[in-house]
Amino acid sequence: MSDIHVDVLIIGAGPSGCVAAAYLNNKGFNIKVVEKSVFPRFVIGESLLPRCMDHFEEVGLLDCLKEANFEIKRGARFLREDIVCNFDFSKKHTEGWNWTWQVPRADFDHILVNDIIKKGVDVSFKHEVVDVSFATDGTSTTLIKDTEGEGYKIKAKFIVDSSGYGRVLPRLLDLEKPSSIPEHSSIFGHVKDINRPKGEEGTLITFDVLDKDTWFWVIPFSNGNTSLGFVGKNEFIDSFEGTTSERLQKMLKTSDYYYERFKDAPLLFEPKSIRNYSKAVKQFYGKGFVLTGNSAEFLDPVFSSGVTFATESALKAAKLITKELQGETVEWEEDYTNYIKYGVDVFATYVKEWYTGNLQTLFFHRPENPEVKKQICAVLAGYVWDETNPFVKKHDRIVRTLAHLINMETEKSE
Ligand code: FAD
Repeated sequence: MSDIHVDVLIIGAGPSGCVAAAYLNNKGFNIKVVEKSVFPRFVIGESLLPRCMDHFEEVGLLDCLKEANFEIKRGARFLREDIVCNFDFSKKHTEGWNWTWQVPRADFDHILVNDIIKKGVDVSFKHEVVDVSFATDGTSTTLIKDTEGEGYKIKAKFIVDSSGYGRVLPRLLDLEKPSSIPEHSSIFGHVKDINRPKGEEGTLITFDVLDKDTWFWVIPFSNGNTSLGFVGKNEFIDSFEGTTSERLQKMLKTSDYYYERFKDAPLLFEPKSIRNYSKAVKQFYGKGFVLTGNSAEFLDPVFSSGVTFATESALKAAKLITKELQGETVEWEEDYTNYIKYGVDVFATYVKEWYTGNLQTLFFHRPENPEVKKQICAVLAGYVWDETNPFVKKHDRIVRTLAHLINMETEKSE
């Protein structure tokens, strides 16, 4: 096959790749998406944040999603023993979307990719990026292998690496580095939710907190199935023996709140597990390429920030590539790395403070402080660039300080 020439090559057709592709396609660039698997394909990451609705709307991908009737997510519930902490996205500090969806990603991602194909984007499934080389001017030659093992080359002015856990460029260019987030692992699967209660209780997304390091997600879908997943330290995950379905069934017994509902719920496939899921890189871009979504960074599922970060970074990258290809100078360090790092650092604080227990102290302290709750709610909705929010601007100390004050007050009253 003769070489293909494009303006932008996008690796991976997940939400990050689709958002980048939709934006660049709208701008009239000659682009190509190369995707290793065939869609629909399973991927974890089913609880979205309101902030990502802004991204889908801006690139014209919201209407196709609205037609799918996914379960509406209006907030998030955290449970610890008998204390309930309910966040309602309509009561948040920052203006923005008050709702989003909880989605089976196979269907969600399939809709996105079908829509960009309908709009004229060239997507090749079962085509895998195996090697890349860059010239000094940033133009690249990428080696692709198709299903028959046939190789061909794509020459591009720019590459967006949205390959998720494939982490194509971080691997090929030696950009990976250890994450600063404490190591945790997860086991998850989908069940037919045969005992789903009627009304809101049946459809509420919930994080059942078992202890400081261990929690359990329940994400009901509009198709009657529910995603269940346990997250914990490796010692916790490894302490259950057997197949992943046997281990998940045993773990279910640790949830007093949900055991009865799910104990007989049939699993829809053998549950999957991911060990030490947090990922980081030494740099987010280089001459002629940019990393977006999980290919760049993944923190932790506890605040469902993965897809939103994937679409935020994709949209930002696509805008900067547009400028660069139009001959303008782009300050990638300032306009990409520093911007993305700002949001990542805010979320990273919340993840770290979740596992120190400080954030859990704030969530489960009673009585609640409505102003504090609104500010934290904006962070949990993904609005982590709003510096009018003290829980964004002072994220590195405010959670710790407030938790300390609550702990002192509790000690005094005991
Ligand atoms: P992906 O959606 O993974 O897409 C990457 C695509 O690239 C894939 O289709 C893959 O086949 C393709 N690819 C890979 N290698 C190659 C190659 N060599 N050539 C061509 N194509 C390639 N996020 C949330 O927002 N909410 C959650 O509730 C949530 N829960 C999570 C729970 C767990 C346990 C974990 C580990 C993660 C969770 N996440 C969650 C994170 C979420 O899974 C990711 O952040 C999100 O899927 C990233 O999207 P993406 O587009 O970057 O990558």
